[in-house]
Amino acid sequence: MFERELTHLLRCYKILPNYKSGLMYNSTLRFQNFLRLAYRQLFVQTRVFGQTLNMENIMDNKDMIDKIIKIKQELGNRLLILTHHYQRTEIIDLGDHKGDSFGLSQRAAMDENAKYIVFCGVHFMAESAAILAKDHQIVQIPDMDAGCWMADMADSYLVETAWNEVTAIAGENSVTPLVYMNSDAFIKAHCGRNNGAVCTSSNAVKAFEWAFKQKEKIFFFPDEHLGRNTGNNLGIPANEMIVWDPEKTLGGNTDQEIKKAKVILWKGYCLVHTRFTTNDMESMRKDFPNAKIVVHPECTQEVVKESDAVGSTSFIVKYVADSPKGATIIIATEINLIKRLALEYPDKKIIPLKNSLCPNMYKINLKNLLNCLENIGQTNIVGVDETIKKDAFIALENMLNL
Ligand code: SF4
Repeated sequence: MFERELTHLLRCYKILPNYKSGLMYNSTLRFQNFLRLAYRQLFVQTRVFGQTLNMENIMDNKDMIDKIIKIKQELGNRLLILTHHYQRTEIIDLGDHKGDSFGLSQRAAMDENAKYIVFCGVHFMAESAAILAKDHQIVQIPDMDAGCWMADMADSYLVETAWNEVTAIAGENSVTPLVYMNSDAFIKAHCGRNNGAVCTSSNAVKAFEWAFKQKEKIFFFPDEHLGRNTGNNLGIPANEMIVWDPEKTLGGNTDQEIKKAKVILWKGYCLVHTRFTTNDMESMRKDFPNAKIVVHPECTQEVVKESDAVGSTSFIVKYVADSPKGATIIIATEINLIKRLALEYPDKKIIPLKNSLCPNMYKINLKNLLNCLENIGQTNIVGVDETIKKDAFIALENMLNL
């Protein structure tokens, strides 16, 4: 896993010249950033796979948990802690609501009492909560460095350039932009400005249907696999879905291909979900012939086609809950969720297709959550520029109205 992440970092920092918001990074800075991130990923992986539990850790944890509970009691309903399903169990236990990015964004939009929203997830999720938050609300994240590499693959400069090229060929009024929640606020704002919507893996089919009612084509950012799996689900022929590779001229397509396409897929992917392969499935099927395999739609179409069921994080949670006692379920998604489901359903056999951890989700821990709560309203505030917020809000609202 670490090797793939390094490869991705190398790709981002050495090949893409306009990596961050259209700004040209000079090579020294890019190399320093690369080393910093590589070190951090190595550190996280070492902690995850080499962690040892000793009494000192347990006492430290207990102390921190007690302090967090005390702050929660003091702040009462002025504080809302949202936790994503991929968080560690101890963080989930301290949250007010757990869910996937769609469910949590609905929560953030609904709860007007909370002055402070602490988002235990990755940055784009906290940013979405900040876009939906009311003026009196402050959104914080325990670790500002908890980003998402898939979101980083759709840089705003590259997206704007691609959009201009596609609309110049296909026509201004023929394309609806759809953006996966896993993207930064600039991309959501771009989408809002161009009458598009945000979607999540829970409502991607609905979002595609909605988009096709608006215009004849969809430009989908940034997850190629969720986009393709959704297109397959709706019966769109493979030759009408093209991939836009931002490193190639016209994304690697001809004018004719762009004109013919119904769906244009940005070449982005999740490092956690694209690790699963059909070989993994084949060997698991041999070992567990009666098992069902359920996968997330960020997996490749080959994996999805070989699965027994496919769906969002919430779908997977429900699938496990609804399975009969004694069932064996093999899951292809983030390992923290699978480990927790195995604990919650001891009467079912729940196995990961492969151990695949999101190092960014793992950055949130008791220590930085406590630090965030001890500095409530003051540190790690997730802010969004007002103009960006206004446009991104349109795209998020279109999603909530689907
Ligand atoms: S699991 Fe994948 S898409 Fe989700 S935050 Fe991690 S890298 Fe991003």
